[in-house]
Amino acid sequence: PAVPDTDHHQTRRGEESSSSAHPAEPFSSLPLPPTLQDNLASLGYLTMTPIQAASLPPILDGRDVIGQGKTGSGKTAAFGLGLLSALEVARFQVQALVLCPTRELADQVAEELRRLARMLANVKILSLCGGAPLGPQLNSLSHGAHVVVGTPGRIEEHLRKGSLDLSALGVLVLDEADRMLDMGFQAALYAIVAATPATRQTLLFSATYGDSVRPVAARMLREPVTVEVASTH
Ligand code: ADP
Ligand code: MG
Repeated sequence: PAVPDTDHHQTRRGEESSSSAHPAEPFSSLPLPPTLQDNLASLGYLTMTPIQAASLPPILDGRDVIGQGKTGSGKTAAFGLGLLSALEVARFQVQALVLCPTRELADQVAEELRRLARMLANVKILSLCGGAPLGPQLNSLSHGAHVVVGTPGRIEEHLRKGSLDLSALGVLVLDEADRMLDMGFQAALYAIVAATPATRQTLLFSATYGDSVRPVAARMLREPVTVEVASTH
């Protein structure tokens, strides 16, 4: 027998008039740790941008993701929330690496990750970029980190020196992959990937997804989910 219909208001949802064809989704619909949820609210991040709404569910599922979206679409928080929710803070090893084309972009990403991680106790985020002296970086690395953000050339240099260990890496992010390839970082990217476990999750973000990015993605990502967002609204 059918379950008695005790709630006559249930059908109202479908009758609701909506001013928007794609209502903005709140972060609270995601399976994020409560501390990250609280922190997002304190930052005033209430609803997800389209690329966040499309990419975060597969990212939080552990899938490899190719995300294509314009500047300003909110890509940093998309991969940032993914890597932060995968961190085991008690394990003091480099568990996530974000590669960016320039020092300026890496600094911006590190800053946004620190904002997103503010309420997670003791998460160490280290920035390792070319153009900065090696000595302080070697010193910082000797103290350890959970997350490293850097440029491909300098990360490769640390791998050659043995000052950076990526054997416990869980998440690799290629941010602005098209620009990194335009800048000639392809060999460095392959060398870095070779130093990471094959079991890692790989997230590739790019403003464009053309002939330079496609073959690299095919070699570095496993059964990726592709997410494409045309605009920021
Ligand atoms: P992209 O990397 O796609 O160019 P960013 O990740 O740098 O974009 O984000 C652009 C700006 O939007 C940043 O200032 C960021 O703090 C802000 N932002 C990102 N996601 C949200 C959100 N869900 N709600 C409010 N502001 C956001
Ligand atoms: Mg960005």
